[in-house]
Amino acid sequence: MGPAIQMSNGPDVLIIGAGLAGLACARHLADVGVSFQVIEASDGIGGRVRTDQVEGFLLDRGFQVLLTAYPEAQRTLDYHALELKKFTPGVFSWFAGRMNKLVDPWRTPGGWNEALRSDFGGFFDKFRVLRLRARLRASSIEQIFKRPERSTKDALVSAGFSEEFIHRFFRPFFGGILLEGELKSSSRMFEFIFKMLCEGDTVLPARGMGAIPAQLASHLPTDSIRLNTHAESLHENELTLTGGESLRARAIVVAAEGPAAAHLVGEAEPASRSVSCFYYSTDEPPVPHPMLVLNGDGAGPVNNFVVMNQVAPSYAPAGKSLVSVTVLGTQQLTDQQLSGFVIAQMKNWFGPIASSWRHLKSYRIPHAQPQQYPGALEPSQRPVRVRSGIYVCGDHRDNASINGAMLSGRRAAEAVLADFSR
Ligand SMILES: Cc1cc2nc3c(=O)[nH]c(=O)nc-3n(C[C@H](O)[C@H](O)[C@H](O)COP(=O)(O)OP(=O)(O)OC[C@H]3O[C@@H](n4cnc5c(N)ncnc54)[C@H](O)[C@@H]3O)c2cc1C
Repeated sequence: MGPAIQMSNGPDVLIIGAGLAGLACARHLADVGVSFQVIEASDGIGGRVRTDQVEGFLLDRGFQVLLTAYPEAQRTLDYHALELKKFTPGVFSWFAGRMNKLVDPWRTPGGWNEALRSDFGGFFDKFRVLRLRARLRASSIEQIFKRPERSTKDALVSAGFSEEFIHRFFRPFFGGILLEGELKSSSRMFEFIFKMLCEGDTVLPARGMGAIPAQLASHLPTDSIRLNTHAESLHENELTLTGGESLRARAIVVAAEGPAAAHLVGEAEPASRSVSCFYYSTDEPPVPHPMLVLNGDGAGPVNNFVVMNQVAPSYAPAGKSLVSVTVLGTQQLTDQQLSGFVIAQMKNWFGPIASSWRHLKSYRIPHAQPQQYPGALEPSQRPVRVRSGIYVCGDHRDNASINGAMLSGRRAAEAVLADFSR
């Protein structure tokens, strides 16, 4: 028997924000028949996971990927319907004046020979990757998030990795995931992501990352999401919208991003990690495989790039390639100035052909992720019940990932249901 849930005429629950956390919360409430309304300030669903269509290209609002090993994504999403397209496991890294390839030997046929022969990383670094992989595969996610925290850099140094390997591989690779190049972020987040990378595939949905929130929303009743509606303030169980309209519900779930949520519920704002993403159309892909390309020498603004249509052909029209370039931070430069520096760096790597790359669009994302320095993930699951009738979810409640956002949404829905059944 399910919980005894008391229903009212208006929606029982108001959810502020139609990002992954808000949509996941709504999805769990819909599954048990609780009524809700989602209030979204912007003109579309998805929050930080949206895809624009520009001249036949699919442009995700900032480069991001789904890791199929994420347990909450496995639990909530229909992977088959998303038509997931895999990256080739491995990376290119630019250093010593050339492109260097490191394959993932576990998932590349004949890869052991290539990995061991490659002069990207010495024998001891490769051995330590093997040891780290084995240790994390043997640990549960719960164990990882309970371990003593330190910075990712300290964790790598104490695991014995050489400064050179950290600089050429871990710094740009995890810099692009944690959105900071100094690797100051919590070792718990590093270990969680490393485990997820080892245990599944790194993928893009064929119709863009925005297909993930679209799939969550497809399970919700029509008209349950109200777009272009900004929640201004919250007093007890009453929500005031910009423009003055008031809404009431038995429960209000704030599923806004960290700084906006903090404003609404009166908490301290979390610090932000910001990032910029530049898209270019090219006639030829600059690298031969669908692998992440890292800036392993540290010079220039580009941290990493990917040729998106090599992973998922639907990202570009026939005959064109789509290059997604990640620059950490938002930078105090105009798009034109920063793009000029990006192209100068790419000319250094690929020669004059890079001058022909056509800048399609850029995205600057001031709050791409909450900062997750040691301490920020303690406890790893922060409370979702703020006070009577008010709940909070979002990546700032669990961790800055698609998995963390969806998990926090489910936790908030479960807390609401538990309180309704009292
Ligand atoms: C560039 C980039 C790269 C990333 N890379 C990855 C990756 O590769 N893998 C991964 O797992 N994760 C990645 N992430 C992190 C992941 O995307 C986020 O953790 C997750 O999407 C956060 O979802 P959320 O629902 O918590 O917040 P959001 O997506 O920010 O949703 C919050 C919603 O609330 C709305 N809102 C805010 N205030 C109000 C208000 N007052 N009234 C009404 N609505 C409001 C917003 O408009 C927004 O739609 C990346 C993030 C970015 C930006």
